Amino acid sequence: MKQEKALVVFSGGQDSTTCLFWAKKEFSEVEAVTFNYGQRHAAELDCAKEIAEDLNIPHHTLDMSLLNQLAPSALTRKDEAITHEEGELPSTFVPGRNLLFLSFAGVLAKQIGARHIITGVCETDFSGYPDCRDIFVKSMNVSLNLSMDAQFVIHTPLMWIDKAQTWEMADSLGAIDYIRENTLTCYNGVKGDGCGECPACELRQRGLKQYLLKKQGGEE
Ligand SMILES: [Zn+2]
Repeated sequence: MKQEKALVVFSGGQDSTTCLFWAKKEFSEVEAVTFNYGQRHAAELDCAKEIAEDLNIPHHTLDMSLLNQLAPSALTRKDEAITHEEGELPSTFVPGRNLLFLSFAGVLAKQIGARHIITGVCETDFSGYPDCRDIFVKSMNVSLNLSMDAQFVIHTPLMWIDKAQTWEMADSLGAIDYIRENTLTCYNGVKGDGCGECPACELRQRGLKQYLLKKQGGEE
């Protein structure tokens, strides 16, 4: 374990909660930051708060409602349907969201003396968000360092793994049951196994099924 401080960009969902457990194992001191941008479901924010409390992690919530002002999308507007046409960006896309999140996380990290920043972005289940790509995160790392004359390291433990492997990582961290029950990924705001019907639930359930099948197979 590194005797250093890390800040996790944390939404209360499966991916960032897995990152939180990962960070706890890797770093001696961990804090988390959640962005409030008028999410469809305020439950997401409660969920993040509860998880941080459970894990005994200092938790910052930053007001990013300006994001909703700049770019209303299906993630923030209940009256916008969640759609994803082949070859197009999904309606949940908020242009520049991750750019803003990582910038603000960088400023906060500087304030609290954290050199490491962890984000759960992933290029594998890539649904077309350009600012979740590895190359973008690397460029952001350089920009943060230059802007603040700092030596940040941005970690992306989920960048090259799929949802099934994310569940596997959660399991290896001893956190699979906790994450299954306490995180919220569902677009309809249903905690745990979710509504089962929205695209986020489909992705999460498919990954879990795959992983559990593989685990069963491996144990026989
Ligand atoms: Zn759902």
